[in-house]
Amino acid sequence: MKELELNPTIVTYHKIDAQHKLAAHFNIYQQKNILVTVDDGDVSFYQHMFPLLKQYKLPAILFVITGLIDTKIPFWWDELEYLLGPEQGGKKVWEVKEWPNHKRLAYLEQLRATVDKAPLEQQQLTTAQLLEMQEAGVTIANHSHTHPMFDKCTEAELQDEFMKSKQFFEERGLKGYRLFAYPNGNHSTLTEKVAKEAGIEYAFLFDHKLPSKGFNPYRISRLSVTDQTSVNKLHFILSGWHSRVLPVSKKLYKVLNG
Ligand SMILES: [Zn+2]
Repeated sequence: MKELELNPTIVTYHKIDAQHKLAAHFNIYQQKNILVTVDDGDVSFYQHMFPLLKQYKLPAILFVITGLIDTKIPFWWDELEYLLGPEQGGKKVWEVKEWPNHKRLAYLEQLRATVDKAPLEQQQLTTAQLLEMQEAGVTIANHSHTHPMFDKCTEAELQDEFMKSKQFFEERGLKGYRLFAYPNGNHSTLTEKVAKEAGIEYAFLFDHKLPSKGFNPYRISRLSVTDQTSVNKLHFILSGWHSRVLPVSKKLYKVLNG
């Protein structure tokens, strides 16, 4: 990964609602040598962003959740919102991210059994699509097997995540296993140790920061953007000011709203 050794500014998208401002973003990335990353591997990436990446000849990394590929298994946070309804579900998603992993899993299992709704299905990307994108220059990389919060997992759970995603990459001829983005950005001393033991060479955070001065391959900073981010705001984010102002405005919000 030559680009990474140069310590680039990295932006991160998640679900892509529509192409919205993406073409304008890509114009800027081309001029500034900015690396595009996308987490979770939602099918919307293939529909909306992949065609534009090809057109603009921009390199990108797509971090996929290997346990979902070729299935209709939904993202667990979407399933939670579906089962509890958007308002209560949305709050619950934040709450369970703080729980030990086994407790979150047991809670979801129990909800599925007790809520009287048809199981939620979500079309996920397929191996064929991943191979097509890899062929076209998108790096298909590792976002774990089931997207747990890594800092809430036991060592055995972490090892299992890496073992299963490694097997997935090897079996399908996909190359990006060693590039890993922490689900939700959550990391700890233990996660870093297990990641290294599992052969990960680059680990990406989700901290809304510009690259740190001393490049640490296991703590690579990334900025958060969406397809709807305006060009003005994008310039603001890329300048680094947004990540400095954001904690202050969050504090103010807390003070003003209790
Ligand atoms: Zn994610």
